[in-house]
Amino acid sequence: MAYRTENPATGAVEKEYNSATDADVTRAIERADAAFGTWRTTDASERAAVLTKVADIYDERADELARVIGAEMGKPLAQAQGEVALASSIFRWYAEHGEELLVEEQLNIGDDAKSLVVTDPIGVLMGVMPWNFPHYQVARFVAPNLMLGNTILLKHASICARTAELIEEILHAAGVPQDAYINLFVSNEQITSIIEDPRVRGVSLTGSEGAGKAVAETASQNLKKSVLELGGSDALIVLDDVDVAETAKAVATARMSNAGQACNSPKRIFVPSTMFDDFVNGVVATVEGIKVGNPDDEGTDMGPLSSVEARDDAIAQVERAVEQGATLRTGGTALEQDGAWMAPAVLTGVTREMDAFKEEIFGPVAVVYSYDSIDEAVELANDSSFGLSGSVWGKDTDKAEQIARRLEVGMTYVNEHGTTKAGLPFGGVRRSGYGRELGRWGFGEFANTKLVRVA
Ligand code: NAP
Repeated sequence: MAYRTENPATGAVEKEYNSATDADVTRAIERADAAFGTWRTTDASERAAVLTKVADIYDERADELARVIGAEMGKPLAQAQGEVALASSIFRWYAEHGEELLVEEQLNIGDDAKSLVVTDPIGVLMGVMPWNFPHYQVARFVAPNLMLGNTILLKHASICARTAELIEEILHAAGVPQDAYINLFVSNEQITSIIEDPRVRGVSLTGSEGAGKAVAETASQNLKKSVLELGGSDALIVLDDVDVAETAKAVATARMSNAGQACNSPKRIFVPSTMFDDFVNGVVATVEGIKVGNPDDEGTDMGPLSSVEARDDAIAQVERAVEQGATLRTGGTALEQDGAWMAPAVLTGVTREMDAFKEEIFGPVAVVYSYDSIDEAVELANDSSFGLSGSVWGKDTDKAEQIARRLEVGMTYVNEHGTTKAGLPFGGVRRSGYGRELGRWGFGEFANTKLVRVA
């Protein structure tokens, strides 16, 4: 795709960007490889100081960065500010913890030789990132790897090119060498050639299954490590001891955050049949109360979707669900104005034979299901090709925790959904991908865990 800023609130193309030539790509790989030779030898405290400075600049420029997010992909200002603060916290976390994660480990295996495990960087990495959390997704790949001593070539989503430029600007201003982090506006074919290059040692992609498959195929053919953070259709199970009105409101709000365009949004909501009608009424009332408006306006809960295509895809999924027998309780149509606007929707009556049960709906559509027993709820929750995260909501938190542990996903929660913090692992199983980001887990993915033994 061409790299350009097309404001989803208006449909206006505000800026177009030049794509990289093949010669630019070749030069970037050479530069990043040469930079690895020096960046890896810097003292860890020096790299930590650079990451602290990155976080400081993020904090200083938070408002400006958040407004660009809104202009590029439609996120309301308060949510965009929250994302920028999260990205900053990730750089700060690795600055604070990086040195302890690099401490050598002495093994005592009962012989007289010295056995040490050291953590080395592996070289140039390729990152391919999506638009839905354009700073946070990049931060969780870039912060641990720069701390480790790897260098990075970054291809951001074509609709958030200005954010891509700003990230590069901030990293360089903070002291990351020009060649240790290079932003590239490249095509899919150029991504393939970068992954094939012997100087590039690994690739991390956050995005759709299709993109994940393409990148993983090239990586595996070249025997390179990949980390994939892909889609999800998270289950959220409500127990029968909750306050119905309060929980319905919290759950609907969680589903509609970022206009539903989050990999770990609760896309399938399971509710006891005994409280189903009241719960659905609460969800519908909350969704109908959502203030859809300009991302920059105070009080906006939901902006436009990221693009007209994304909006049309979400609406087509709703329409197909209705054709297949589901009931549309509210919303689900385009708003009659320029831009990628949509009325947030609530669906019920979706059965497991329908596409809406099996697919990821990447938009503001809450789908509420009814269940008769906990075993049925868990079975329905696990009946998915995805396995990103899941949650259980109930006053009896011990019971809820036991149920949450039965979910076949990478992250489980009780009485919250999808909480992300720098120190917590992030990642999924099944078709949601493999590998982990954040915390100490994200530090190990592109590290050489090396044995040093002296007999
Ligand atoms: P996407 O189309 O896969 O785009 C993600 C990135 O991959 C973009 O930079 C895109 O470039 C690039 N890309 C697309 N096709 C490619 C290919 N064949 N080869 C190499 N790169 C390719 O994803 P999206 O639709 O924008 O994002 C939504 C998806 O991402 C959802 O499925 C969502 O659940 C998932 N996601 C997962 C996580 C997670 O952590 N698990 C987080 C966020 C989003 P262009 O922009 O130039 O097409």
